Amino acid sequence: MSAWDVIVIGSGAGGGTVAAALAPLAEAGRRVLVVERGPRLGVAHARPDELASADAFYAGAGAAFTEDGTIALATGQVLGGSTALSTGVAVGPSGAVIDGWRVPGLPGADIEARAAAMVRDAGAAYPHDATLNENNRLFEEGALRAGFSPERMRLLVRGCRGAGVCHLGCPNDAVLGTHALQLPRAAAAGVRIVTRARAVAIAPQQVVVRVTADEGWPAGDHVLTAPCIVLAAGAIETTGLLLRGGFGGALPRLGRGVTCHPAHVVVAEHPRAITNAVGHPTAYRVDRTTEDGYVLEPCFSSPLVTARNLTGFGPEHAQVLAAYPRLQMLRVTARDRAADGNRVVLDRDGEAIVRYRLAPSVRDALVAGQRAAARVAFGAGAVRVHVPAADPPRLDRHDMDALDRRISAALELPGRVSLSATQPLGGAAMSRGPRDGVTDAHGRVHGAPWLRIADGSLCPDSPGVHPVLTIMALAERVADAVRDDLPALAGAAPAVA
Ligand SMILES: Cc1cc2nc3c(=O)[nH]c(=O)nc-3n(C[C@H](O)[C@H](O)[C@H](O)COP(=O)(O)OP(=O)(O)OC[C@H]3O[C@@H](n4cnc5c(N)ncnc54)[C@H](O)[C@@H]3O)c2cc1C
Repeated sequence: MSAWDVIVIGSGAGGGTVAAALAPLAEAGRRVLVVERGPRLGVAHARPDELASADAFYAGAGAAFTEDGTIALATGQVLGGSTALSTGVAVGPSGAVIDGWRVPGLPGADIEARAAAMVRDAGAAYPHDATLNENNRLFEEGALRAGFSPERMRLLVRGCRGAGVCHLGCPNDAVLGTHALQLPRAAAAGVRIVTRARAVAIAPQQVVVRVTADEGWPAGDHVLTAPCIVLAAGAIETTGLLLRGGFGGALPRLGRGVTCHPAHVVVAEHPRAITNAVGHPTAYRVDRTTEDGYVLEPCFSSPLVTARNLTGFGPEHAQVLAAYPRLQMLRVTARDRAADGNRVVLDRDGEAIVRYRLAPSVRDALVAGQRAAARVAFGAGAVRVHVPAADPPRLDRHDMDALDRRISAALELPGRVSLSATQPLGGAAMSRGPRDGVTDAHGRVHGAPWLRIADGSLCPDSPGVHPVLTIMALAERVADAVRDDLPALAGAAPAVA
């Protein structure tokens, strides 16, 4: 058994931010530990390999799905969590949206201000023209022709050399995830970080950590104690740890209200090769969240993910893939809203899994987004567009006037269309009290002051597509409270044998 002052489980957007914010504690001699299930990016990503990266850096080796198998879930399982594999699109939180959550003691203006300070601190910038690939330029051109107003995105990247494979782990270390910014600062201050170490069970002021490979600690189970434990293992696994720990009895809403921003990839065939595989993948977006519930962006998927994202089988599927070097790619992401039935549950093996059903409003948003994506692609000069909610999925230019008929909600059927999600949120939401959520506005679990939550699971509803800044700002507040509360918690902690 080893004793710590604070143990942080997970090192992604939430955990990495907490670790950095607790650096003053470590400097003052407190023992702060970060436990991360995944490995370090290390040199394994120097030569990106799609299968090897998926296997090494993603939960479920990149093959995780919702309970009914209809939505592929991609979340990072690596030091830095999903932020280490992110494209770094930095969208500031909306104070009004956060105020709408009605969590006492959570002012939206404070979250906005914290996120803005983080953006300044990280040096997030708009991408330079030289780093824009043709896929981005076609998106801008097509969006303007289709009557949209594409906006250039601010990116949490530094020194992007356009490798294009952010989601495999940037080979140039340009992505400013927590692995690159917050965790090195924390480590320099004395925060201890152990990787390939999975928290498997929590009990009052105690956590059992299973180390699977020796990256500093011997393999095997380790029992760790601390007066304060911060769960930041991501919305799915944090909620799973709480469910396994038996917290559901006192917290009836535990697991409920999950959102995940389901997304489609629409691919469009151009008559000539276009550059997509190099350059930053997502430099623009069309935000139609308020009007139609979706966001449209250029994106890049490597061949395996593109194959998975296409709807249909057989020769037609093969034909689209054969056109890979000529494909423009667009992502349609819906901003789904918290619904009771969408939740994290435990499967037969006790592993956390997402039970999720597409609400009619989300189907409508995805359909509207696919129609818009087709218009953008044709506007950019595509000759054919592959749209999941069309039958057949392949649309030719002469279908342009019939997009509303050809792309239909009746075809937006889970299992028929291929959906993916990279932004699971909720499950252990902030709330007024234990009847309507899991924590207070500072991530203190209702009824268990030693236990804190600091990741995407805190969100009572979707903050909007691209939540990383919101999560980081929420996590920083959690860390502030940990610093304030620690003397009292440590005073109350039982002595360690
Ligand atoms: C490929 C990809 C691209 C993305 N791009 C963007 C983007 O451009 N902009 C944006 O705003 N958002 C983006 N996102 C979403 C964003 O990164 C996530 O919403 C955010 O990182 C979630 O933060 P988190 O702290 O909840 O979880 P994560 O950042 O996923 O961190 C959770 C960490 O906990 C670890 N962990 C899990 N279980 C355990 C356990 N039992 N014990 C120890 N450790 C554990 C995991 O390995 C992981 O490192 C992207 C996500 C992905 C996957």
